[in-house]
Amino acid sequence: ANRRFDEVSLIAVTKTYPADDVLRLAGLGVRDLGENRDQEASAKAAAVAAAGAGVTWHFLGRLQRNKCRSVVRYADLVHSVDRIVLASALSDMAVRHRTSALGALVQVSLDGDPGRGGTVVGGTDPDTALASVLAAVDAAPGLALRGIMAVAPRDWSPDEAFEQLQSVAGFVRAEYPHASWLSAGMSGDLESAVAHGSTHVRVGSAVLGKRSALR
Ligand SMILES: *Cc1c(COP(=O)(O)O)cnc(C)c1O
Repeated sequence: ANRRFDEVSLIAVTKTYPADDVLRLAGLGVRDLGENRDQEASAKAAAVAAAGAGVTWHFLGRLQRNKCRSVVRYADLVHSVDRIVLASALSDMAVRHRTSALGALVQVSLDGDPGRGGTVVGGTDPDTALASVLAAVDAAPGLALRGIMAVAPRDWSPDEAFEQLQSVAGFVRAEYPHASWLSAGMSGDLESAVAHGSTHVRVGSAVLGKRSALR
């Protein structure tokens, strides 16, 4: 893809896999880990911290306001900020419970499917429109806007999805030059994501093996 190797970071998604696997990955130099459920992630992060490993946790999943208090305590970044009420709850909790800013990525929905989360490009609901969520995150105390994240819609080709996403990322960077991250690409579509400017791929099964539960 004519990208420099160091332009793309690997986030190993360890959901359903135990803390021992996180420690094994950390031993191999993989320090960025992703999880999508608070209950599982908080226990795993505590076990990894108790073992003395310094890692960076990325929270990737849909998030309810009542989980923010827990998430800000172990996660360094949340990739799934998709509404102003959630940004506000994360901000409140980050101010109270953290000593450094919580990295925040705004999750973009390319097809507007409300079941899968994500702000809508050009949307008109003030709580979930991309422009208003970006502005809210950027202004929120305790949060540091890093960029955007997306999952390719189920029945789109990865190239179609990531090409659109790349142009959205360009608009975002024009307005917020510090929001340079593009979190895109999973086991099944990371090549296309990297070809379209991804800076962070979130890879689970291709690193750790096929998960037994469908998640
Ligand atoms: C599970 C998950 C991934 C990793 O998926 P794989 O197909 O196993 O690589 C990436 N991003 C999110 C948001 C996830 O929930």
